Amino acid sequence: MNKTKVLHTDILILGGGLSGLSTAFHLEKSGHTNYLLVEKNNFFGGLSASTEKQGFTFDYSGHLLHLRDPYTLKWIRTLLKANLSKLKRKAFIDFDGKRVPFPFQANLWALPESVRQECLQGALQAAQSTSKKPKNFEEWCLRAFGTGIYRHFMRPYNRKLWQTDPKKMMWDWCGPFVPEPDIAQIKRGAAAKPRQAFGYNTYFYYPKRGGCAALVNALAAKIPNTWLQANVEKIDFKKKEARINGQTVYFKRLVNTLPLKDLIKISTAPADLKAEARKLKHTTVEVLNFAVNRTVEPFHWLYFPQENVPFYRVGMQSSFSPDNAPEGCSSFYVETAEKITDRPKAEKAIFQALIQKGIIDRQDKILLSFWQTLPVAYSIYDKNRAPAVNKILRWLSKNHCFCAGRYGLWEYSFMERSLLQGRDIVKKLL
Ligand SMILES: Cc1cc2nc3c(=O)[nH]c(=O)nc-3n(C[C@H](O)[C@H](O)[C@H](O)COP(=O)(O)OP(=O)(O)OC[C@H]3O[C@@H](n4cnc5c(N)ncnc54)[C@H](O)[C@@H]3O)c2cc1C
Repeated sequence: MNKTKVLHTDILILGGGLSGLSTAFHLEKSGHTNYLLVEKNNFFGGLSASTEKQGFTFDYSGHLLHLRDPYTLKWIRTLLKANLSKLKRKAFIDFDGKRVPFPFQANLWALPESVRQECLQGALQAAQSTSKKPKNFEEWCLRAFGTGIYRHFMRPYNRKLWQTDPKKMMWDWCGPFVPEPDIAQIKRGAAAKPRQAFGYNTYFYYPKRGGCAALVNALAAKIPNTWLQANVEKIDFKKKEARINGQTVYFKRLVNTLPLKDLIKISTAPADLKAEARKLKHTTVEVLNFAVNRTVEPFHWLYFPQENVPFYRVGMQSSFSPDNAPEGCSSFYVETAEKITDRPKAEKAIFQALIQKGIIDRQDKILLSFWQTLPVAYSIYDKNRAPAVNKILRWLSKNHCFCAGRYGLWEYSFMERSLLQGRDIVKKLL
């Protein structure tokens, strides 16, 4: 679309990640073409995009399709045709160098005997407890899993991931993300490897070629009214105008997928709403991607709860698709939520820990390595989050602005939810 001519639009979509693309896709599908999608990067996809380097494909850390809704699966199959594979999760928790299958709480059998007993006894006690509604995430964990599982996994891992004390967090994000086996299942999993797999991601989908971006590109190809390298600088809700690359665009309605906090900051929202937005906290994730000249025994991802290990998760990009790495090579991403001020020093510490954990060998040749920053990665579910988000969303909706996506709604969610939220917003708009 010739951007210099687009000064008026009915629906202005802010952001060209999956939420924005899905909104535009469903508007097109319903024959409503009076919209404009604007994206600041020179590519679509946001966090669901992929990067090509020296024959390797890297996503923005792992981006796997967890599809539970028949609508999304059918839609993605139509978009990707044969370019989609279904994989069975191979995910583990590193416990003193031993790989315990995920989720920890359903696989106590794999732990050293004393830890297994401690976790099992704690879970049995928790199951008998009649404690009241939990006040925070720590209390929720203790009630759901007991003291042992909390001490050995839930506390250290979540502390590392969220960079927040579990006592200062709520538990309304846990839903699909924290599998909650009942006490009979925990007992069975303490006695032997369970036959049942737990969690929302026991199977997942991934494009055979092109990384996660294959989905983004297939979707973007269906959407004509877009403007790339279009930075949204200001939103005036009263005048219904947006300043984009210094140019004014008039709109009737807005769909926001930008981080909620950022939208409010660049808008004419009232001061009390800006104060609410300032209460919203998030983590920043730094990702070190790298590749080695050897075929490493495949796993999908590993969790590291230990305080002295400088990452919380390591994923194997080449295990999602052979197309992600040239033959005879393996590629990985390492995620850390801690602030990194000295990247060469951090990289050295990470490689040392990867060798010590047996993920790579000292003899392996590192073919490439590069960092990515995900500035807004996880919205922190502290006690301020829900009231602030509710207040902001109510005000925005009164001002004809609807939000979608993990950051637009300031929530912990995944790609399928973004795709569905885009669809559902269109139902609201039309
Ligand atoms: C570490 C990590 C791992 C994840 N792994 C998975 C996974 O395995 N599976 C899964 O399903 N989900 C995963 N997710 C979640 C997934 O990334 C999100 O649910 C999804 O990408 C959200 O899409 P979105 O379009 O809402 O947001 P985004 O992808 O963030 O898109 C927003 C877009 O807005 C653009 N933008 C921002 N500011 C401006 C501006 N001022 N002007 C114009 N454009 C702007 C951005 O460039 C971006 O393209 C993961 C997330 C993280 C952080």
